[in-house]
Amino acid sequence: MGDEINEYIAGLFAREDELLRELRDEAERAGLPAISVPPETARFLQLLVRAADARRVLEVGTLGGYSAIWMARAMEEGGSILSLEISPEHAAFARRCIERAGLSHAIEVRVGPALQQLPTLDGEKFDIVFLDADKEPLPAYLDWALRLLRPGGLVIADNTLRGGRVADPTEDDAQLRAIREFNRKLASNPRITGLVVPIGDGVAVGVVQP
Ligand code: SAH
Ligand code: MG
Repeated sequence: MGDEINEYIAGLFAREDELLRELRDEAERAGLPAISVPPETARFLQLLVRAADARRVLEVGTLGGYSAIWMARAMEEGGSILSLEISPEHAAFARRCIERAGLSHAIEVRVGPALQQLPTLDGEKFDIVFLDADKEPLPAYLDWALRLLRPGGLVIADNTLRGGRVADPTEDDAQLRAIREFNRKLASNPRITGLVVPIGDGVAVGVVQP
């Protein structure tokens, strides 16, 4: 979407407070990649957390904890987020930020490759599964989300448009192929009412029925 439109939406609905601005700056100084969700996407996550009355959220891809902090702030007391992260450095940074945000009781970060961690969660139920890690396993992550979501739960995925490259048939690489497959599955699975929303870098949302 155009920069002007994004700025208008973010300025109106998704202002960062002091803490979130500091976290963004510190993440940059610490050398973390600047790939947190933008504020308007974070606001959309909050809206979905509220709409689903989410008490338990599974996030795949913590980075510095930015999206987790936004989501946790929208949750009722007693709600919790489990966030999976492959990089011990990112996880350590995220834990410090989460502590500073006063949300250590609500957000747990677990270190390890998601495809190894997800099977250990089998049998647990989440209201939302938010996929924002590596893109090639997205179709496999979707299968896990279908297993781990309660009936009526939401699967959400970030970067499902990749600056428009996903929609450009002349563009092709392994990540784009995986994202396209994910989007196709979201569109065609009869259990899922889904849509890719062109906010931020493209946020896919699906409501999953049993
Ligand atoms: N959700 C975060 C951004 C996540 S960036 C936010 O908006 O604030 C993607 C993160 O996924 C990076 O920290 C990266 O280390 C992590 N990641 C990449 N591959 C992974 C994997 N296989 N399992 C778990 N985490 C992974
Ligand atoms: Mg992302």
